Amino acid sequence: MLNASIITIGDELLIGQTIDTNSAFIAQELNRIGIWVRRRVAVGDVYKDIWEALDEERKQSSLIIITGGLGPTADDITKPLLCNYFGGKMVTDPGVLEHVKYLFEKIYRRPGPILERNLRQADVPDVCTVLHNARGSAPGMWFEAEDNRVFISLPGVPHEMKGLIQDQVIPRLLTRFPLPAIVHRTAFTAGMGESMIAERLVDFEASLPPHIKLAYLPSYGMVRLRLTSQGPDRETVENELLPFFDQLKTFIQDVLVTDTDEGLEIVVGSILKGKGKTVATAESCTGGYIAHLITSIPGSSAYYQGSVISYANQIKEKVLDVPHETLLAHGAVSEETVIAMAQNARKLLGTDYALATSGIMGPDGGSEEKPVGTVWIAVAGAEHTATLLLNLRFDRMRNIAQTAAQALNFLRKFILAHE
Ligand code: AMP
Ligand code: MG
Repeated sequence: MLNASIITIGDELLIGQTIDTNSAFIAQELNRIGIWVRRRVAVGDVYKDIWEALDEERKQSSLIIITGGLGPTADDITKPLLCNYFGGKMVTDPGVLEHVKYLFEKIYRRPGPILERNLRQADVPDVCTVLHNARGSAPGMWFEAEDNRVFISLPGVPHEMKGLIQDQVIPRLLTRFPLPAIVHRTAFTAGMGESMIAERLVDFEASLPPHIKLAYLPSYGMVRLRLTSQGPDRETVENELLPFFDQLKTFIQDVLVTDTDEGLEIVVGSILKGKGKTVATAESCTGGYIAHLITSIPGSSAYYQGSVISYANQIKEKVLDVPHETLLAHGAVSEETVIAMAQNARKLLGTDYALATSGIMGPDGGSEEKPVGTVWIAVAGAEHTATLLLNLRFDRMRNIAQTAAQALNFLRKFILAHE
């Protein structure tokens, strides 16, 4: 299999100011076309460090993809460095120059003449193939080294890098290298920990041929199970993998959410859409996060009506009609309150279902009786209301994310159970 290395450049990556999302994206895209990412390396904006990383990675990999360091400022040194590394000289590329002028005059419409430092973005080493960056002024560069290694330099800005990978890099790699087909199939489970699932799958895992791999990817109470196989052509690999995937699903039938790799908000959305039903939310402790997840999906207006973010007790009372006595007797984080929130939100917003959350996310606000991580969830339908109590043990942000995932899964099960 063809090996690749990804080198990400920038001091911001090393000090943790920017999280390196570029490598993850590139790795996924390469994996899709059958290229194995052997190493990912991050280096600072330091000439010697970048040079050494190039020397080191070409020992490991036939393909080296570099991102970052292509901006118009002095801290970005990748381009002159690559020019020296491959023994070229800088020349102005007329196509890039035209594109830079077009961007600054027609798109960014910056007043005054274009700065010299922006015009210089059209300068490239004469030993590379220029990759057109439709989304920005720094072009990508493709170098063919004597040892048959391919080096590709891309801007660090994630959306520019993505455009270049998809439009320029992947199509060229497909013709430049003979590549195997890699096929993944992912099953998405909820409600059982990975160790328990692994116990069930001991025999199945042992029965897999060596080129088919099973991976466990847990997050927020869900576990994704991925089977991966590879071979010379896609159809053969798919046909071989499918029976194993079907077999896998039979072992986890009771906890299976979906057999495609998609989030719960997508799964819930397609169930609602398929049934022509609508949902609303009444969120206290998740503060609109569930609404955000649901509305991140294009087309969600078909089944999602809206939310009351009843964070304060008086909003629970005034807007959602949660009785004063209920709040007084049981508190905001209680089964009684969350039931009233769900039932009343359903009526107020005129939907088939409503999902409500109320909990203590931390770090403060816990008590002996209701420690941080105590969360009540309710789903109300026309005839039934169901509740779920969570006892989470994470930090605030993870508690919120976990509550949202559990709530969406609870809604999913409720809809399927009460149809
Ligand atoms: P540069 O090409 O070095 O000028 O990078 C431009 C911007 O892209 C930087 O300000 C970073 O915030 C962002 N960036 C650079 N490298 C990465 C990376 N590996 N992952 C995510 N963002 C990045
Ligand atoms: Mg930089």
